[in-house]
Amino acid sequence: MKRREFIKKLGGSGLVAGSTLVAPGLAQAKVTPEYKWKMVTTWPKNFPGLGTGANYLANLINEMSGGRIQVKVYGAKELVPAFEIFDAVSRGVAELGHGAAYYWKGKSEAAQFFAAVPFGLTAQEMNAWLYHGGGMELWHEVYEPFGLVPMAAGNTGVQMGGWFNKEINSVADLKGLKMRIPGLGGEVLRRAGGTPVSLPGGEIFTSLQSGAIDASEFVGPYNDLAFGLYKAAKHYYYPGWHEPGTTLECFVNKKVLESLPKDLQSIVINASRVANLDMLSEYTAQNNQALDTLVNKHKVDLRRYPDDVLKKLKALSDEVVAEVGAKDKTSKKVFESFRNFRDQATKWHNVSERAYLNARV
Ligand code: CA
Repeated sequence: MKRREFIKKLGGSGLVAGSTLVAPGLAQAKVTPEYKWKMVTTWPKNFPGLGTGANYLANLINEMSGGRIQVKVYGAKELVPAFEIFDAVSRGVAELGHGAAYYWKGKSEAAQFFAAVPFGLTAQEMNAWLYHGGGMELWHEVYEPFGLVPMAAGNTGVQMGGWFNKEINSVADLKGLKMRIPGLGGEVLRRAGGTPVSLPGGEIFTSLQSGAIDASEFVGPYNDLAFGLYKAAKHYYYPGWHEPGTTLECFVNKKVLESLPKDLQSIVINASRVANLDMLSEYTAQNNQALDTLVNKHKVDLRRYPDDVLKKLKALSDEVVAEVGAKDKTSKKVFESFRNFRDQATKWHNVSERAYLNARV
């Protein structure tokens, strides 16, 4: 039995209603929710991986609290638009938000370090930095002025470089390249001579197909296959240097969290840790399968960025990221911690993960 089905079976109707606790062999006890919460998200409702990750976390909180907390998930625009969830939870319009920290750079430049940084940390390194390397304390500090408590709530793992209708054989091929690539990665592309374009996920396919853009990154095989992007572009480049382990977040209104009894506070915080691991596992499993389908069934042309292109993008990324790290006092503090951790983790992973994966090939 798949684990999700198992959990569903354990939860029974309590998953949806949040009002009944089903314990095997025991009579169902009616539990009236003490806390009815809204979770607003930046994702379309039930979007594979990201939206379903939000649902999973909400269900976990409902289940683990035995129905004392009942969380209802709202897709983007259902209650508030995607990019207004930060303010909505800050103001108490909703209790929880599910998104990615780089969306909030308008609130704090430092927020970007907690989602994805070009040539930054992998998923495993990100979790290590957050949970055991001082990152989480800094993240708390960044969200504190907004009355929010952040939690890591998922990770996509290393993303793909993107879909191209033009071959990238040298740095010169990036010149004039019109590519959908948001955030810091977009700024790096701009400095390499390209034109970054911001487009919602839903507009990528038609823009690629019509030639309005030459290339687009999205997530990885799991989501890209579902969007049919292989029908709109010829070449699929790797690795996703711009998003090496994107962390998804869940934030809670601080006053709401602190008003809970200690056991429920612990449930909310630790449910998020479980969801964080679960999403990465889901992406890893689904990406394996989807890549196989893309390459073997749809005959996608899989290509690695040439070394000199990656080298140039790395140099430009270092420049762009250091500039973010110099914007203000908080960004400086976060950047220093992040950079020190990355340098140290690189040395360790050179003799562990990298060495092993190279040996296993
Ligand atoms: Ca992406």
